[in-house]
Amino acid sequence: MPETELTMLETSHAYFNESCDLLELDDGMRQVLLNPWRELSVAVPIRMDDGGIRVFNGFRIQHNGVRGPYKGGVRFAPAADADHTNALAMLMTWKTALADIPFGGAKGGVQVEPSELSEDELHRLTRRYTSAISHIIGPNRDIPAPDMGTNAQVMAWMMDAYGQSHGYAPGVVTGKPIELGGSYGREAATGRGVCDVAALAASDVGIEMRGARIAIQGFGNVGSFAAQRMEEIGAKVVAISDVKSALYDNNGLDIDQILGHVAKTRTLEDCPGGESIANDQLLELDVDILIPAAIEGVITMTNAVDIKAKLIVEAANSPVTYGANAILEERGITVIPDILANAGGVIVSYFEWAQNIQRFRWPLERVNEELYSIISSAYLRAADMVKERQITQRSAAYAVAVGTVARATELRGFI
Ligand code: GLU
Repeated sequence: MPETELTMLETSHAYFNESCDLLELDDGMRQVLLNPWRELSVAVPIRMDDGGIRVFNGFRIQHNGVRGPYKGGVRFAPAADADHTNALAMLMTWKTALADIPFGGAKGGVQVEPSELSEDELHRLTRRYTSAISHIIGPNRDIPAPDMGTNAQVMAWMMDAYGQSHGYAPGVVTGKPIELGGSYGREAATGRGVCDVAALAASDVGIEMRGARIAIQGFGNVGSFAAQRMEEIGAKVVAISDVKSALYDNNGLDIDQILGHVAKTRTLEDCPGGESIANDQLLELDVDILIPAAIEGVITMTNAVDIKAKLIVEAANSPVTYGANAILEERGITVIPDILANAGGVIVSYFEWAQNIQRFRWPLERVNEELYSIISSAYLRAADMVKERQITQRSAAYAVAVGTVARATELRGFI
């Protein structure tokens, strides 16, 4: 266990190195798979509504493209610097490989707090960022998608900005509005996939999903859909939170009622139908399944000893620190890693992209069925490795993913 917490980039390198040891990969292959193939850093100047100019830092990091065009979201967040984006790009390479969809891994970021910008400023920022990276993206090169701080509207602006110089190309981004070639079910896909994987893992660790007690940290695009789906499949969501507050009811919260409150007020604060608890308390509740669906680094070496859940499903990217992961392993708590748990988003992005190219669309039921088929196969591939090598779910998921990319690298024969 490390003496201090590792950064997100150090964490992704540490898991990667462990999987290379397990797979006995040689040094050359490790170098090829570790280093991002291309890192683009751009200045994004925009005129603010008050007439002044501000310049934001933007990035697009293409980690590995051996299995197909680079794929991954664009994050608008103050923390989205080069290292952060780099770590997330690497996670995408493993996520697409584990899901066995034909993409590499990339991530984009702009260091900005989007809630501080007006709609017009956000629009200008998105267009300027898109034109700054437009020479390295494209339906057969690199396909951005939404991530923290971005959404379907931002994707629509990106598609339009790219199209101005490259012609109509809806497959350049995924997670678009339905009206512009988005896929049914894409918005809900990450949360839905989290629940699909949680149910498979629950049955492996002996938790009955019907009536299982669930705590979800985060009520954004992932947490809110995960909460609705959990309720639909008969689990009991006893706690949820957003940045400011958390809501708890031992008998299960009424998710529809909460969605109504959030739609009106944009926050969980003063939401009726539960007791208000502190945000950190949510992580330590006595529940069956804990779903961190907000940001990275929330389960730490400090609070990992107090976690009572039997199963943790990483709906956010990297919510459990490297040190906390070791403590949870020692305590026998199963952690389903992000590269498996939250792959539902990029899986439905794959459907959207493939269908944009062919100009057709599946109905929602078909999308959800195919999502389940892909994500459950990924779960089973990792679960087989867990049994075979007697390792954790994270080590197994990494080994399957890194092994897949290593084999593809050898087969391509470019080194
Ligand atoms: N941003 C999401 C992720 O981290 C989705 C990426 C995509 O759809 O390309 O997996």
